[in-house]
Amino acid sequence: MDIVQAGDPVLRRRATEVPLDALASPFVQQLIATMIQTMRAAPGVGLAAPQVGESLRIIVMEDDDETQWAAMSDARRLELGRRRLVLQVVVNPVIELLGEETEEFFEGCLSVDGYRAIVRRAARVRLAGVDEKGEPVNLELEGWPARIAQHECDHLDGLLYVDRMHSLTLTTAANLDRWWKARPAEEVRRALEAG
Ligand SMILES: [Zn+2]
Repeated sequence: MDIVQAGDPVLRRRATEVPLDALASPFVQQLIATMIQTMRAAPGVGLAAPQVGESLRIIVMEDDDETQWAAMSDARRLELGRRRLVLQVVVNPVIELLGEETEEFFEGCLSVDGYRAIVRRAARVRLAGVDEKGEPVNLELEGWPARIAQHECDHLDGLLYVDRMHSLTLTTAANLDRWWKARPAEEVRRALEAG
């Protein structure tokens, strides 16, 4: 499944709530399966239904790929506040930012292919909704998973990370990888800002 790219109006619309009596329908179940498959194939750590062209309030998140985790240094993992997140399907998610603490880190989006920029996000959130079976979901997330949840919920309100980014830090993913080989994130940021 192709991932919708920035410029498609579906990414700028407020997505519609999924009626709970439609949750078990083949359409919604197939959509969720497609989203999971598309996220894994990309690969990505989160996907919202508008990114596969459906203006519905559904997100999927997963950060549990053995290969990716094995390739990541401890330093990078700590820097990201990255922690494993098993597959989560959240229908009609409601996000609540917990506390005042914020974190800034590089973020990208499968719908803005090839770029990264620093985005300030709340460090902790609560995410509520229902899963694909209609069972309640109530997650408290922090660090990287909290960032994923905020990013995906933004998609449902027609927002992209570029609306929130620190624009001086915009970089291609390839350039960021090159910077990162040698330096910690804070130095990368200073260098990008200095031009
Ligand atoms: Zn995105």
